[in-house]
Amino acid sequence: MMQLFLPLNFLGFVYREIKSSMTNIEQMFALLGQQAQVQDAEQATELVVSQGHIRFQDVYFSYNPDRPILQGISFEIQPGEKVAVVGASGAGKSTLVKLLFRFYDLTSGSISIDGQDISQVSQQSLRQAIGIVPQDTVLFNDSLYENIRYGLPRASHEQIEQACQLAHLAPFIASLPQGYDTQVGERGLKLSGGEKQRVAIARTLLKNPPIMAFDEATSSLDSHSEQAILKALQAAAQGHSSLVIAHRLSTIVDADRIIVLEQGKIVEQGQHQQLLKLQGHYAALWAVQQRENSPEPSL
Ligand code: ATP
Repeated sequence: MMQLFLPLNFLGFVYREIKSSMTNIEQMFALLGQQAQVQDAEQATELVVSQGHIRFQDVYFSYNPDRPILQGISFEIQPGEKVAVVGASGAGKSTLVKLLFRFYDLTSGSISIDGQDISQVSQQSLRQAIGIVPQDTVLFNDSLYENIRYGLPRASHEQIEQACQLAHLAPFIASLPQGYDTQVGERGLKLSGGEKQRVAIARTLLKNPPIMAFDEATSSLDSHSEQAILKALQAAAQGHSSLVIAHRLSTIVDADRIIVLEQGKIVEQGQHQQLLKLQGHYAALWAVQQRENSPEPSL
């Protein structure tokens, strides 16, 4: 998410300066002398995640007062559940993840984790509990190894290798002449969108937070890459409460619940097959994507 705010090169510089100690966004903001958008409550407590139950209750939110974005959003993620959010571009999907991470305060309503309102806990403890795989992952000008280790600076080599296996990065790394030592980032090897997301998944697997938020890249992926992402995502979601923002519906057919968002409101929710049977918004989205994915008829 940091890349929403900070130029890449500068971020790379910051990272090199502090990579041995820095693991969270507050410290990065502090280092940059920037104010985060929200402040800790005066009596902020530390978030304690026991189960990983997430509740959005009647959430209203707008970036600008004259343009409402989310309007009365209520849903729950039970411990260990994978809940997916789908809907047209601009419906407000990524905004849900930003609000769960408390990048902004709500206009009204509440978001709670295991009964604790996230506006009343320290941002540090909140962000420690959530692993985010953003749409577009920042890669620092450093080795692939260091880029992955960033998820848990004290990780052992074995832990890093295991995370790469689970994130389906291992075959890609093995195919590089310099393997883990390959330099990436602006001045190194440019990774594809799918490879970058798998780096982000490996980082998050290392961090091993109780809650996962995955914001799928919008860039189109070939089907091999898509399958690799899907498997990596399944590994990452295992045993975690997860919120998945999906652009390709094929990645979330196995979700415990799918929420269909339209212009900031929930218009349908259920499992894949249930939603198809409704023949409503989800079924229409599915039909469009099926058409787009089917091979061109030969002339
Ligand atoms: P996509 O599928 O294209 O990623 P989305 O459903 O995730 O879209 P959001 O990114 O949540 O949509 O954006 C919802 C609306 O909020 C959009 O109209 C967008 O232009 C607006 N928006 C997003 N971020 C900001 C911001 N920082 N300031 C003002 N408006 C914003």
